[in-house]
Amino acid sequence: MTKIPVGILGATGMVGQHFIKFLDGHPLFELAWLGASERSAGKKYTDAAKWHLGGRAPESAARLTVEDAKPGNAPQILFSAMDASVATEIEQAFAKAGHTVVSNSRNHRMDADVPLLVPEINADHLNILPLQKQLRGWKGQIVTNPNCSTIVLTMGLAPLAQFGITRIVATTLQAVSGAGYPGVPSMDILGNVIPYIGNEEEKMQEETQKIMGSFAVDRIAPLTARVSAHCNRVAVVDGHTVTISVEFSAKPTEADIRNAFDTFSAVPQQLNLPSAPKQPVQYMVEADRPQPRKDAERDRGMAAFVGRLRPCPVFDWKFVALGHNTIRGAAGAAVLNAELMQAQGLLD
Ligand code: NAP
Repeated sequence: MTKIPVGILGATGMVGQHFIKFLDGHPLFELAWLGASERSAGKKYTDAAKWHLGGRAPESAARLTVEDAKPGNAPQILFSAMDASVATEIEQAFAKAGHTVVSNSRNHRMDADVPLLVPEINADHLNILPLQKQLRGWKGQIVTNPNCSTIVLTMGLAPLAQFGITRIVATTLQAVSGAGYPGVPSMDILGNVIPYIGNEEEKMQEETQKIMGSFAVDRIAPLTARVSAHCNRVAVVDGHTVTISVEFSAKPTEADIRNAFDTFSAVPQQLNLPSAPKQPVQYMVEADRPQPRKDAERDRGMAAFVGRLRPCPVFDWKFVALGHNTIRGAAGAAVLNAELMQAQGLLD
């Protein structure tokens, strides 16, 4: 099968590098184009970008020259890791010019006509795309993935949605890699906890409601459950941990919840998408797991790990969830989104 050529907007940045690494050897997509700012345009990738991940930049990127992030030579399908200060205009320019932009940036996530897609949870939200075309007059389209802490919360809750979630309190312990490079100064974070991440709590609250909301005709109706997030940066390199207390209308038993976690499977697993974890949510029975250092990278960083299910004296149940923030929370999430769109004929 001929692979589909794809490009990366913001290819020199931290998330751009994760895209390059995740796409290396991908069975459907082939890296054909790299875009960044005019500071990088015209340079060989290895001259334009300081590689922050393990090893060297893959040959698939090292052989390419970075181009200006403007429509023209770019392939039809683009992954976006653009700096948020410029993502709105640049992503829109590409969509207007007929490209599919599968974005990791926050800019369009909450637009009413843009899917905030987690294929295990809301594959049907792609049905909003005809409205996007109609309202915006674009030949192309924009699809987004959630913030790196929202994905962990929503993946942990997805198997439990059937019990009627009414209230959620979620507290994060977020890795430093979520702040990009160079990110949080070492003097601030070593031996410390920073109880503030700008706009993160608002993002977690509203994104969760949109992701877990329901698609109806021409709109995505948000989940009515109330969500309260507390976000903290901790001295962990990769892997966001979220402790979750949740209230349900159906009052499930412990066995109901364990069974829901253990049997959860969704559209990406049914379609056998290349980046889909076989078991998207994995319950760990050990009392002290999941842990970021031991578990975040399992299953290529694409699964969510949950554990410590116990009664909550305030709500009904509480548990812990963990996910890889730069893989499932960024590049891997967007690639899975594109795989779902390809399987549904939305990249043709
Ligand atoms: P970053 O390292 O600062 O990279 C930003 C990228 O945007 C670089 O490739 C940069 O190119 C490009 N860029 C900046 N200004 C530009 C301009 N005027 N025109 C064209 N390109 C421009 O940022 P990041 O940490 O990878 O984050 C990228 C996006 O993903 C952000 O929207 C962020 O919120 C989101 N995100 C990040 C994480 C994370 O873990 N870091 C997780 C989830 C979501 P040059 O190198 O040429 O300047």
